[in-house]
Amino acid sequence: RYDVSSIRVSGLSARYGQARALVDVEVDVHKEEIVAILGHNGAGKSTLLKSIARVHREARGTIEIGGRSVVELRPNAVAAMGVSLVREGAPVFTHLTVEENLKLGARLGRRRGRDAAAIEDAFEWFPMLGERRHAMAGVLSGGQRQMLCLSQALVSRPDVLLLDEPSAGLAPSMTEAVFQAIQKLCRTGVAVLLAEQDMRWVEGFASRYYVIETGRVAESRPLGAGLPGPDLLAEEVTAA
Ligand code: ATP
Repeated sequence: RYDVSSIRVSGLSARYGQARALVDVEVDVHKEEIVAILGHNGAGKSTLLKSIARVHREARGTIEIGGRSVVELRPNAVAAMGVSLVREGAPVFTHLTVEENLKLGARLGRRRGRDAAAIEDAFEWFPMLGERRHAMAGVLSGGQRQMLCLSQALVSRPDVLLLDEPSAGLAPSMTEAVFQAIQKLCRTGVAVLLAEQDMRWVEGFASRYYVIETGRVAESRPLGAGLPGPDLLAEEVTAA
């Protein structure tokens, strides 16, 4: 038996035409857990997240959300199950206000009638967005726009949150706010799987990590056991 807020990936292989991007990948995420996917550029982190959301469709193997197989489903059906994927540079509606963008995000969720409360939560987690609630999304800075993208996912009240590099392009103070919001959401019963390059945030917020190397899981550990060795993550460690 599985909780609705869980991800189970097993024997997952994904390709782009002839090119293999993932080979026999196993990943589990439980309710109220933040799990990180680490790896070099091109290792397959984004492909894993996109395969779970079924946005990338050339994939075979087991992908279950809450114990239910999603491999045959279309992306909108997976979204309707409560799975939200936040990608780098995801578009916002530039000619709508911050608040209107969030109302749209909330409407895509399945818990209608609770939009207003969810939106106020987002403004509490990101006061910077609250101050700009009546501003057009088009005038936001890059970092604020990224917060808006994440907030759109948060207000849809997902059971499963998939995040591609949430720290990318954000100043440390903004990243801190983003990870704290992710943690608060997680504690409401959500399973969070995130791809991340910046070890500081993984160390501070994730409970486990997997290292992906050229499409295969090379290592998986709880974070209490320490961060991956320099042989696995040389670039990231020196960059951090
Ligand atoms: P990054 O941090 O750079 O996004 P990643 O770990 O997320 O890296 P993926 O984007 O999943 O890696 O890419 C995995 C492999 O699949 C790489 O070899 C990449 O070149 C290839 N790939 C990704 N997207 C496509 C695509 N649309 N068409 C063809 N190959 C692709």
